[in-house]
Amino acid sequence: MTDVALLRCEEYHVESIEKSLREGFSLLGGDAMMRKLIPAGASVLLKPNLLGAEPKGSAVVTDYRIFEAVIRVLKDYTGHISFGDSPGFGGTRKAAETTGLSEVAKRYGVPMADFDDWVVGKVPDPLLVPQFDVARAALEADVLISLPRLKTHGMMNYTGAIKNQFGCISGLKKASWHSRMPRSRDFSRMLLDLNSLVGTDFAILDGIVAMEGNGPKSGTPKQMNTLIMGESISAVDSLAATLIGYDPLDVPYLKQAHKHHWGPVLLKDIRVLGKTIEEMTPESFQLVRGRSHMHFSGSGPLNRSFVALLAPRPVLVQEKCISCQQCGKICPERPHVIDFPEGFPRWDYSKCISCFCCQEICPKGAILVRYPRLARILRMDR
Ligand code: SF4
Ligand code: SF4
Repeated sequence: MTDVALLRCEEYHVESIEKSLREGFSLLGGDAMMRKLIPAGASVLLKPNLLGAEPKGSAVVTDYRIFEAVIRVLKDYTGHISFGDSPGFGGTRKAAETTGLSEVAKRYGVPMADFDDWVVGKVPDPLLVPQFDVARAALEADVLISLPRLKTHGMMNYTGAIKNQFGCISGLKKASWHSRMPRSRDFSRMLLDLNSLVGTDFAILDGIVAMEGNGPKSGTPKQMNTLIMGESISAVDSLAATLIGYDPLDVPYLKQAHKHHWGPVLLKDIRVLGKTIEEMTPESFQLVRGRSHMHFSGSGPLNRSFVALLAPRPVLVQEKCISCQQCGKICPERPHVIDFPEGFPRWDYSKCISCFCCQEICPKGAILVRYPRLARILRMDR
């Protein structure tokens, strides 16, 4: 049985969050657990979700007040704390500045690690991927603590603690993994292997304000007053996915984690400490159903035809589009899936792998994940 702490925290107020975090650590074993997690002299790397250069308080990224509260607690155990991430688009430094993390880090003397400095790391007992080009800082830190945000995700349905470490792969190298692993099953195994490599030790998931709908960048902020903490990142994600209304096995990387005994996923294997699931379940939450729960995908011609007819796809909300063409630049598929005949994107769905990098990157939320008409008639979007 794996312990996970489920806490109520109703506002982004540093002292309130710190109090909740200390309560969570206490529930999970208190000082003894903390000293085991962070042995004397250990270096700790914080891995926030810095998806892009978002404004302070944005629901797209890890909130700067969570970041500050975590640092305040960890300072009791080590003086060697750093943080890092590598956004898929744009620089880390700019993202850290606009989101408010840089200012907090400077105040507490927490340096930013250079995630563009990468090394080749070999995965112990891989499910699929034997090695990665990965940020040296993530590989060399004694303790890696993931600070994800609870959000919906076009490709994976949900994103949290496991997906957050995808940012340990430098910048544009990330996009190539979508091309190499177009099937959500393989992409999921890749994410699990990456976490095995960097050895994610703990997760503190920010769900005070989560994101529903068109996540992970263009969804709607949703007040949930929730923090989830634990040493098992699959258990943290499973609990978060359950709260917002998914069966955890609807999330492809949790399905693979369960299938391969990578980590606890089923609620019967997770002991929830603090609040109960019933207490913290929101009255409603707008989910997304990506291609991940379809039973076919791949590159064969028949599969391609099915995918083009039935797979969820990016669609344009033209009145929101500013013709910046970032969606075309981020698309990992070659030849190009997106062209811009009259300045606006147009997709060739027969070539699209439904990775939704374009939807994720769009600065205006002008791309939605939608099922084609036939799939809706067949109720594949449910
Ligand atoms: S990224 Fe968004 S705003 Fe820019 S061209 Fe594509 S759809 Fe339009
Ligand atoms: S068009 Fe969008 S969803 Fe399709 S492959 Fe390119 S980035 Fe991925």
